[in-house]
Amino acid sequence: MIEVHDLHRHFGGFRAVDGATLKIKEGSITGLIGPNGAGKTTLFNVIAGVLKPTSGRVTMAGRDITGLPPHDLFHMGLLRTFQIAHEFSSMTVRENLMMVPGEQAGEQLWNTWFKRRAIAEEERRLAARADEVLDFLTIAHLADEKAGNLSGGQKKLLELGRTMMVDAKIVFLDEVGAGVNRTLLNTIGDAILRLNKERGYTFVVIEHDMDFIGRICDPVICMAEGHVLAEGSLDEIKANEQVIEAYLGT
Ligand code: ADP
Repeated sequence: MIEVHDLHRHFGGFRAVDGATLKIKEGSITGLIGPNGAGKTTLFNVIAGVLKPTSGRVTMAGRDITGLPPHDLFHMGLLRTFQIAHEFSSMTVRENLMMVPGEQAGEQLWNTWFKRRAIAEEERRLAARADEVLDFLTIAHLADEKAGNLSGGQKKLLELGRTMMVDAKIVFLDEVGAGVNRTLLNTIGDAILRLNKERGYTFVVIEHDMDFIGRICDPVICMAEGHVLAEGSLDEIKANEQVIEAYLGT
């Protein structure tokens, strides 16, 4: 589904991504691991259009998407989740979800004057969809809570929920488990597995928690020093000498 070929992203003389080549299979939940500074987040940002590559190529379903801006990729179904931005924290969880689809009738001045009924209808539709998403994620009880009051794990679920408001095909999740308690991490893992099985989402997940990776990811790709060291099942990766060395070296 995604092919990354000899990708480089340099910051001045520093090669954060240094010749990364990898494939993400459609329908997989691929884990991306590697020591701190390996270039995982930078790779995500280049694929998702947040950063331009220094050189190299990224394709999605055979189409060259190298350097396309995030909103173009969004319309193709490629999403990278971000923490809920500061300005959205005073909105409710449901409102945060309703914001996602964009290009709503109410955003055009003409419509706000002349198409009030259409706008009200659109809002009802979006609110109903948001409530379905919250149900799916087992956080329906948080619909009217301000997003800023959510715990770290609940915010991660809300980030996942945002991808469900549009027709995502492939979702890049960065550090799902950071600061999240075990129970919520399991809920997040379940949601990812269900989205993968029931809705056909492909996921790429950066995560340090190996139990979590082992539970939901296959295959696992290990990066170090800006490129791919090894790919395989988590057990294969853990037994790989180069991988062990890369982790010990940090
Ligand atoms: P990882 O996600 O694997 O921990 P990162 O992609 O965050 O790795 O970072 C890889 C390296 O690139 C790090 O050494 C980091 O300091 C460097 N780096 C990342 N972003 C920038 C930037 N904007 N400017 C300079 N150096 C950066």
